[in-house]
Amino acid sequence: MTATSAALPAATIVGYPRIGPDRELKKAEEAAWAGRIDAAEFARRTRELRRATRARLVELGLTAPAAIPETFSLYDQVLDAAVSIGAVPSRFSSVVEADGTIGTDGYFTLARGSAEQPPLEMTKWFDTNYHYLVPEIGPDTDLHVASHRLAELFREGLEDGVTSRPVIVGPLTLLLLAKAADDAPAGFDPLDRVDDAVAVYAELLSELAAAGAPWVQLDEPALAADQRIGADELARLVERTAGALAARTDRPRILVTTPYGGIGDLLPALLGSGVEAVHVDATRGDLPTSEQLAGIGDVQLVAGLVEGRSVWRTDEATAAARLAALRERVEAAGGDPAAVVVATSVSLQHVPHTLERESALPAELVATLAFADEKVAEVVHLATGEVEPGRVDGPRSVARDFPGVRDQAVRDRAAALTAADLERGDYARRAAAQQEALGLPVLPTTTIGSFPQVAEVRRARADHTAGRLDDDGYVAAMRAEIRRVIELQEELGLDVLVHGEPERNDMVQYFAENLDGFATTAHGWVQSYGSRCTRPSILFGDVSRPAPITVDWAAYAQSLTDKPVKGMLTGPVTILAWSFVRDDQSLGETADQVALALRDEVADLEAAGIGIVQVDEPALRELLPLRHGDQDAYLAWSVDAFRLATAGAAPATQIHTHLCYSEFNEVIDAIDALDADVTSIESARSRGEVVAAIDPERFARGIGPGVWDIHSPRVPGVDEIAELLTAARAAVGAERLWANPDCGLKTRGYEETRASLAHLVEAAARVRAGA
Ligand code: GLN
Ligand code: ZN
Repeated sequence: MTATSAALPAATIVGYPRIGPDRELKKAEEAAWAGRIDAAEFARRTRELRRATRARLVELGLTAPAAIPETFSLYDQVLDAAVSIGAVPSRFSSVVEADGTIGTDGYFTLARGSAEQPPLEMTKWFDTNYHYLVPEIGPDTDLHVASHRLAELFREGLEDGVTSRPVIVGPLTLLLLAKAADDAPAGFDPLDRVDDAVAVYAELLSELAAAGAPWVQLDEPALAADQRIGADELARLVERTAGALAARTDRPRILVTTPYGGIGDLLPALLGSGVEAVHVDATRGDLPTSEQLAGIGDVQLVAGLVEGRSVWRTDEATAAARLAALRERVEAAGGDPAAVVVATSVSLQHVPHTLERESALPAELVATLAFADEKVAEVVHLATGEVEPGRVDGPRSVARDFPGVRDQAVRDRAAALTAADLERGDYARRAAAQQEALGLPVLPTTTIGSFPQVAEVRRARADHTAGRLDDDGYVAAMRAEIRRVIELQEELGLDVLVHGEPERNDMVQYFAENLDGFATTAHGWVQSYGSRCTRPSILFGDVSRPAPITVDWAAYAQSLTDKPVKGMLTGPVTILAWSFVRDDQSLGETADQVALALRDEVADLEAAGIGIVQVDEPALRELLPLRHGDQDAYLAWSVDAFRLATAGAAPATQIHTHLCYSEFNEVIDAIDALDADVTSIESARSRGEVVAAIDPERFARGIGPGVWDIHSPRVPGVDEIAELLTAARAAVGAERLWANPDCGLKTRGYEETRASLAHLVEAAARVRAGA
């Protein structure tokens, strides 16, 4: 084999969506889990999905050997890697079969839990909206080849006539994302097992070599984020992982990818490790310098020039200029400029499959969009070298300048803002005014907003969207549900009521559909985790609110009760985090526009007699930049946007916020700076530890630690809730404590909701009485 024939081809992608253009994977999984199809039918359907994916990518121009990455996953790529090396916690040892392998059933048990065991923990994948399963590794975890899926998928590709490129999350990222197993001694770090893990990866690579795979791709996104260890130690670990694997002889050529950001001075370590190709994200951060490329030698640079996580069409002239600049630097560093490969910045798993089916989007908007298939075409196009280079510092995506993108009134209003618009005045004075207006008891009880979304509610919404139910019929159906929810809360004796959010399909899409500046897609599904998909809205233009959104529902709910009803809005940061957002202005500017629209909604709620408004920001921590040095700037604009949305409220109006995670203390100063009167957080799963750790000096307002873990159908007992509340009262004081569940009740049933809330109210009464 000559060097050139073995080279990575000129165009490739880091990864491709797995769910299927019609969500075939989701449908097959749900059918299999419900027992509607058997294992053979499930295998047949997923096999067909992979065949169709390979055929599609060939059709789009990825025809050369090793151009197509084998990124299919039944649930999650991190779980795939963990299972491949047998990284299974001891509580799940039964999923390992007698021959040491883990089959599909065992794989799904790890992902979804069993009657006896909760599943692996799930958390955010870098700064995306995708969730991975957290591997658990201890000193005794039996790391071994527990799955041959890598070689099997490669062979399957050959059957389909495609010489593909197997892909696995690399050992360094796997260990950095893993947590110490529950039974590991204090001080143990999964990284302590690096050599054992690498030995198993080496075996996997040798299986691939035996199967005839010319290339393998190891994904090492952890290099693009600040880690619990410093850069020097990371560089040494690159040598110990990539370097150790490269030193083997029975292996395919190795491509290491580093998506989700620049890797800066780790690049030389990677280039010098002995692997044959290194991918860089060339859309975020600076292009690698000639100095960083100094050790390039024969290594192929894979330039991630097409942004893989946005939906915007690439400005090809700019991308071509960056490609030309990279080639020059490679040449100056002594490498071969012709060997540079064009690719996406990250896997395309974060964008929908194709624009082709979006027949309802405005044509001018469509002309500026690219989903996964369109991005593959961009990569192929750039690689052919037919694009005339423009300026290196040109725009990243094509210009959007059709009606709806710019709204001068919105811009003028944002430009006229002053610091005073972010101020609500002294908290103590507000608290007194609120107490006077609301007359709430000590330790008030409330919920986070949504009530169970029963089948009739979802059906009424779907029928209304499809035109089978007219507006009056729809309003009547929603009002009936609101009435039922209010009556239930009155009966249970809650202090602050909610309308239950029956009209909302999704807490972001609902607002996107009611604000100008957004478009919503018909088929734009992206995987959130496993079989779960979301359909992010596209925020392309200046945002404004043509009419009040939530006011009628809230006012109707308030008309049914003398207790205060809490209005319910989604905050600006969360709306941005769960949408595809324009890239032609800063996120802060866009967030302010959304905030102004919400500010008007708050004012209209107040005018309609609503005395408490909750602005949810579950995604506040999620968008936190991967590099510590970028975090302050992010927190500054995100906090300001929340304040802009809420600071128009009168002192007597109580502003609540809800954050769906327990890492409260990590960003406690930012949460404090939101200046909300009451903040509810998740804490039931961590048994109240979160609250015990809150420093009352740093956070001095109302706080509602979740005392019912709504992620499971389990009904918490009165004693257990009272215990959590008592501990929380000891930590933060009685004056500012609230009693509420961890999150919204949308996914729960009415039976457990009624029982759990009854216990919550009873526990609060007991603690209030001083018991
Ligand atoms: N108000 C929302 C609800 O109750 C909050 C959801 C969330 O935090 N993700 O459903
Ligand atoms: Zn929540």
